[in-house]
Amino acid sequence: MIQQVHSHPDIYRIRVNLPDNPLQYLNAYVIKGVSGNLVIDTGFNRPECKRALCQGLQELDIRLQSDTSLFITHLHADHSGLVGLFAQAGCPIYMHPVDYQYLVDSEDGSTWKAAEDNFMREGMPTAEIKTQFSNQARTFSPDPHFPVNPVHDGDCLHLAGCDLQVIHTPGHTPGLCCLYLPKEEVFFTSDHILFDITPNIQVWYHMKQALQRYLESLQKVRELPVRLALPGHREGDTSIAGRIDEIVAHHDRRLAEICHLAGLYPHSTAYDIAPHMTWSMRGKQWKDFPPTQKWFALGETLAHIEYLVDHGVLCCREEQGCRHYDLVRTET
Ligand SMILES: [Zn+2]
Ligand SMILES: [Zn+2]
Repeated sequence: MIQQVHSHPDIYRIRVNLPDNPLQYLNAYVIKGVSGNLVIDTGFNRPECKRALCQGLQELDIRLQSDTSLFITHLHADHSGLVGLFAQAGCPIYMHPVDYQYLVDSEDGSTWKAAEDNFMREGMPTAEIKTQFSNQARTFSPDPHFPVNPVHDGDCLHLAGCDLQVIHTPGHTPGLCCLYLPKEEVFFTSDHILFDITPNIQVWYHMKQALQRYLESLQKVRELPVRLALPGHREGDTSIAGRIDEIVAHHDRRLAEICHLAGLYPHSTAYDIAPHMTWSMRGKQWKDFPPTQKWFALGETLAHIEYLVDHGVLCCREEQGCRHYDLVRTET
């Protein structure tokens, strides 16, 4: 399903359904120019997504060839999964090198193994970790053997007849980049700013303080003049400052909630704390959460715990290979 979201330049959204995924669909954007096109993000590496993306491109009369470029905003498989289609067709591919390297490192499973070992230290039972092996992010990930044009913060790209500014906003992933059209004040926010749902913030073994970095990246773009914000999932908006303030308030509430729980349940693991947090899984209790959601929920809990430890609010003690957290007592 395609929808035109902007004229001059002509920007279209291809709605790529993500079956059995609470995100529902990915927004792949297309800037259609006279002498070339730009596609932003792809959908998972699975037939349903491939069909939706290819049908959308066909409706727009866009052939995959060297005058069509692909910009991958970040490493997540729902955004990068179908990169192979573009690579085979000789399309130039743009991506931040940190996220690209992460895709390469994931190929032999070592990044997943590092995440599993870490989650085990945070109290997740081995049986639950095993249920993660069918996680969509793993199953539908891209083949990382593609040539990449590395992009960095502040780069100006001239693609599809447009001047596009690359804005590196680490947090949701280490290398997430948004794209900005300064003249038209159109902002492709990817998963940095979502409007109907809150972007998930995880812990990363090669990026310390993901939440701190994320909050800084929100402030980095808060004053950007924006007339049209186009997110990676769900619907966009005509401004971003108000939404950024809501997201910051959401994380403040999460931090306060964890402090409260750490006081209530001293010496808990992150896995002990996570079920007591407020999650927006309608009507579902922790025990009924699908395994993938437990994984993301524990990662999100950990990102907040990491922030609180770094700010001296919580302390961590490791006992028998498992980390336990307590409030730091202030002497009076
Ligand atoms: Zn993402
Ligand atoms: Zn996404």
